[in-house]
Amino acid sequence: MFQQHDCPACGSTNAVKNGSTYYGKARHKCKACQRQFVFERTHEPLSDECKRRVELMLAERISLDAICRVMEIKQHRLYAYMDELYDGVPDDLACSVAEDADVELINADCEADELWSFVGRKTDKQWLWLALDRRSRQVVALHVGNRGEEGAKGLWRALPEGYRRRATFYTAGRPRDDWAAYKQVFPADQHRFRKTKKDTNHVERFFCTLRQRCSRLVRLSLSFSKELDRHIKSIRFVVTNYNLSLQF
Ligand SMILES: [Zn+2]
Repeated sequence: MFQQHDCPACGSTNAVKNGSTYYGKARHKCKACQRQFVFERTHEPLSDECKRRVELMLAERISLDAICRVMEIKQHRLYAYMDELYDGVPDDLACSVAEDADVELINADCEADELWSFVGRKTDKQWLWLALDRRSRQVVALHVGNRGEEGAKGLWRALPEGYRRRATFYTAGRPRDDWAAYKQVFPADQHRFRKTKKDTNHVERFFCTLRQRCSRLVRLSLSFSKELDRHIKSIRFVVTNYNLSLQF
């Protein structure tokens, strides 16, 4: 942190202490023009090294508070950088589109932990819809929304054009589960439904990975008014990092 050392009126650096303000901040007086002022504290921008570390940590299951402590930065600066970073996440999640792919689909409950009830949002459950390319293991699309047909439509829309035209989609579960939503949205000739989870084990496993890497981000972001927005963005960020690690 560095402080401003010149007078806001005349630019002179010749200032002396002159008591304190009502709020307890030290007041200064310019010896050249007699102007009284409070030094404004400003921060140096985060260094490239610091940004790199923060980026790596955001892709792990490390609490945001912990990142602030380790990197010795204030929370609002972390959030500002986080937003900058999340805005740079590509729409396609950095996945490479394959020809005639086999895609596994899953519709998973994003755990809403106890914090939801504290903010009176216990009813606001969000379901994560994921599509994972079986060959590359990359996540080709994700959607956060409700559990029914609308959620399935969201996932369908999020899929790259090539997948919508050519891919075969696999879902699994008991009939009373949500496969009906897929049926309503995914073309019958491209959709395979199995009662066993044999055909969706990669995506099921990936969902565990995601939970391990993302849950704390989700929990902490709840204390913010735009929580759903950050919730989705943080998932997209982790998924994109995962996809990039699989690029060849
Ligand atoms: Zn002055």
